[in-house]
Amino acid sequence: MKIYNTLSKSKQEFVPLEPGKVKMYVCGPTVYNLIHIGNARPMIVFDTVRRYMEHKGYEVNYVSNFTDVDDKIIKKAIEEGVDSSVISERYIEECKKDMAAMNIKPATTHPQATNEICGMLDMIGNLIEKGFAYPAADGTVYFRTRKFKEYGKLSHKNLDDLQGGNRSLLVSGEDQKEDPLDFVLWKPKKDGEPYWESPWCNGRPGWHIECSVMSKKYLGDEIDIHAGGEDLIFPHHENEIAQSEAANEREFAKYWMHNAFLNIDGSKMSKSAGNFFTVRDIIAKYDPMVLRFFMLSAHYRSPLNFSSELMDAAKSGYERIVTAAENLKFLMETAADTAMTGAEEELKKTADQFVARFDEAMDDDFNSADALSVIFELVKFINTNADSAKTKTFLHAMYTELQELCDICGLIIERKADILDDEIEQLIADRQAARKAKDFAKADEIRDTLLAKGIVLEDTREGVKWKRA
Ligand code: AMP
Ligand code: ZN
Repeated sequence: MKIYNTLSKSKQEFVPLEPGKVKMYVCGPTVYNLIHIGNARPMIVFDTVRRYMEHKGYEVNYVSNFTDVDDKIIKKAIEEGVDSSVISERYIEECKKDMAAMNIKPATTHPQATNEICGMLDMIGNLIEKGFAYPAADGTVYFRTRKFKEYGKLSHKNLDDLQGGNRSLLVSGEDQKEDPLDFVLWKPKKDGEPYWESPWCNGRPGWHIECSVMSKKYLGDEIDIHAGGEDLIFPHHENEIAQSEAANEREFAKYWMHNAFLNIDGSKMSKSAGNFFTVRDIIAKYDPMVLRFFMLSAHYRSPLNFSSELMDAAKSGYERIVTAAENLKFLMETAADTAMTGAEEELKKTADQFVARFDEAMDDDFNSADALSVIFELVKFINTNADSAKTKTFLHAMYTELQELCDICGLIIERKADILDDEIEQLIADRQAARKAKDFAKADEIRDTLLAKGIVLEDTREGVKWKRA
């Protein structure tokens, strides 16, 4: 299995630190609002990486944090007149609902920064002791960037270029830095902000120290994979490396994986630019599996442009898989419950090759776009051979193969039965009765109820017809 490592700028063979085990940390969202589909991209991509690793037999310890102390959370808390934990807890719950809808497995641990302050104070103290950090007069603690000789190794930036670029970034209050390149580990509280006591001042942690500390606590000093969106390469991940490696005196992570952006009209989807759709917006219109399919239809290191045309294409692609699976189930009901025929054995061997090719695509730096193409080849193969199949055993084998490949992608192939056909028929009958009684308000209400469940009614001369949208 090869992984593109941002650190070496090349695809490298994956060799775990400990045989059979993978320790993986994925930077999670800052929780001050509903997540947007840009945030969902790393969630879906790295959940798929995890699922594939599990399929290969690895035991994956997957840690993904929630950043629950941050300027934006505090601002929102002040606006609503509540404690900032009310805001973060609310959006952690909402985020978990979105993750469940997108079939993203819960992490082994979902740490929250505010529960890990002790570890942060320890690491900052350790860095000060070693001369890698210093408190300024107002109690702000800075990391002494130039002292970490390998600074820039992840983002492939040169310290002197950074210095030139950063000098102009010195803002008031930061002029106590020894060097413009130094970054904050701990900062003093301002009025109305949450704070913790520390040897340097009452205050709160900087963002970067959170991840170094949570990764160390839940996975140890050295991990296999550290991941996130490509905007995190610099400065967030560069700073994490500096902190962790200076404190632990070990290589922090072996493989650094970064997903490209989800764009809209060619620019990065982001809260601050206002050009975003929340996951909630999208799953009100599409099955969350369609969103998942859409995300996996591009390689994770390629930018992906969001458009309703691409979502509609994803919808029909996903629908083709579900229809093939449904057809297999339907045929299984009447097929002979006997061993496969000789011809079916041969067909099964051909189908097995799709599984091998799927693995080949995923082994090549998780090429989900190619992996989905292989699933389509399998679907085509199923559609060509299922109707003439003789045995349930063969049909079942095809179903299992399709299901296994889709499961690695996190795609559920059973259609969501949130409304059964019988219930639809009953509601249509009720609507007809309401119309007959001239209770049009009730008739419309029933139509809208069905529409909300994705059922579209069509009044025709032959009567009412319905279809799933
Ligand atoms: P944030 O809440 O901004 O810290 O982002 C959480 C995660 O989402 C990080 O890994 C970001 O890199 C990622 N992310 C944010 N916006 C996008 C986007 N438009 N496309 C892809 N990833 C994104
Ligand atoms: Zn992080």
